[in-house]
Amino acid sequence: MALSGKKIKKDLAKFLGDKYVFDDKPTNLVYAKDVMPYDLEEHNLPYAVTRPADAAQIGQVLTYANQHQIPVHIHGSGTSLVGLARPKARGIVLDTARLQSMEVYPERSYFEAGAGVHLAKVRAAIAPHKAMLPIFPGSELVATIGGSISVNTSAHGVDCALGKPGDYVLGLEVVLPTGEVIQTGTESLRRPAGVELTKLMVGCEGLLGVITKVRMRLLPQPCTANIVAYYDKTEDILATVMEMYRQGISPPMFFEYLDETSSRIGFEAVGLEPPSGAVAMMCLHADNPEGCQAKAEHFLNFLEQGNPRSAEITDDPVRWGKVWSSRAEAGNYVYRQGSTFGSEVTPRVDKLLDAFQETRHFIEHLEAYASPQFISFGHIGAPTLHGYAFWPTKDIPSEAKRAITLEVRAKSEAINAKYGGCGGEWGLTAQRADFLKLRYGPEYYQALVNLKKAFDPNNILNRGNLEGWL
Ligand SMILES: Cc1cc2nc3c(=O)[nH]c(=O)nc-3n(C[C@H](O)[C@H](O)[C@H](O)COP(=O)(O)OP(=O)(O)OC[C@H]3O[C@@H](n4cnc5c(N)ncnc54)[C@H](O)[C@@H]3O)c2cc1C
Repeated sequence: MALSGKKIKKDLAKFLGDKYVFDDKPTNLVYAKDVMPYDLEEHNLPYAVTRPADAAQIGQVLTYANQHQIPVHIHGSGTSLVGLARPKARGIVLDTARLQSMEVYPERSYFEAGAGVHLAKVRAAIAPHKAMLPIFPGSELVATIGGSISVNTSAHGVDCALGKPGDYVLGLEVVLPTGEVIQTGTESLRRPAGVELTKLMVGCEGLLGVITKVRMRLLPQPCTANIVAYYDKTEDILATVMEMYRQGISPPMFFEYLDETSSRIGFEAVGLEPPSGAVAMMCLHADNPEGCQAKAEHFLNFLEQGNPRSAEITDDPVRWGKVWSSRAEAGNYVYRQGSTFGSEVTPRVDKLLDAFQETRHFIEHLEAYASPQFISFGHIGAPTLHGYAFWPTKDIPSEAKRAITLEVRAKSEAINAKYGGCGGEWGLTAQRADFLKLRYGPEYYQALVNLKKAFDPNNILNRGNLEGWL
């Protein structure tokens, strides 16, 4: 017989304590909602929200959930953009907020952080050791290290320059979906070769286990030099990125662009003279200031062959701070000032221009809802371009929002499939299960289902994400 919500809460409180189990409506609503634009449904609401103290308590929650066949959804900070963060099946929410341990071991050249620690807090803790955290999402003040490693997103970081965060993970503490606690990886900087579970757990989107602790290399903070370049149009920036890779030039660690519209919005917001075209901003890195300067001059020389209106190395930290913030301000504008539906297109690098033109075309000719504005920006050196369908109003019916989401998703995924990309940031399940089948075929998808079954025979953890959901 199915247990009532009340009974579930009472049982959980026995091993977590009353204080850390919630079933009031407001809390349930907060944990059911994510940043997706359309409304909640009844099955998104959990029976109970839990805040376990450690891996052992998480193991108890999962053992109980398996005994009673109750789905468990993992919640980091819930900032994921493509539906990963919303519970899909009525059950228990497992919030990692109390996993707050933070230890830095400079003599071992690594740090260990509890899964619930915010990225900004990790960054601050390792900064005195001249170390850099190679994870750079716009949400870093609130996103957790556990959530970020479980998605394996580098965000602003250019993969070819910095690798993925998972490349720096030495080991993990993980609670398996059936409740057992395991340790993976190594404390040595020499990582295991061959079959090794760390590699499976990094980026597993909570399908194969709950990451409770992350051990990560202290990556030396490099010296940096910044360049800003102004172009007539976005296409000139894309052509520059294509040429950079064609010539085998070492890419900057950050290489962002703002199109003609978002550059105006972003620059105005930070109090800079709005440019009349598109803007590229780059951050180059090296071990020492001389190396950095030489690299920046070399890169500037390369950029100048590509016909910018102007390009300069920006030594003034205040000006650079404003230029860099204009990117976040453009993002704030599209997400706050109206209704926004984003795509993530990551084509083969020689197809960047084609992919951009096709993205703009489908957004400007959207069938689901009339007259969107096309706005784009992104981590173009990665290469990632985000094309947004934007309406300067919040007043769009929920059903229309679903239709727009579906259309933007299907059309951007078709472009990714056509040009060999996969979406390199926001995770690959939840809203993207159909894409996995389209891009990699049914056999690939079935292999993922089999893997999930091997780890989670009762399909307890993050149920609904691998099945695909809107
Ligand atoms: C303003 C804003 C800017 C953003 N910018 C970027 C960006 O530039 N690039 C980018 O890639 N993303 C970006 N994001 C998306 C998101 O912030 C990141 O993906 C972030 O890393 C998610 O962290 P989180 O703690 O919120 O995870 P959540 O959203 O809570 O979880 C993400 C997924 O991981 C699972 N999960 C969470 N914690 C664990 C754990 N400990 N063990 C196992 N599974 C777990 C969850 O169940 C869920 O499936 C942005 C979001 C916002 C709101």
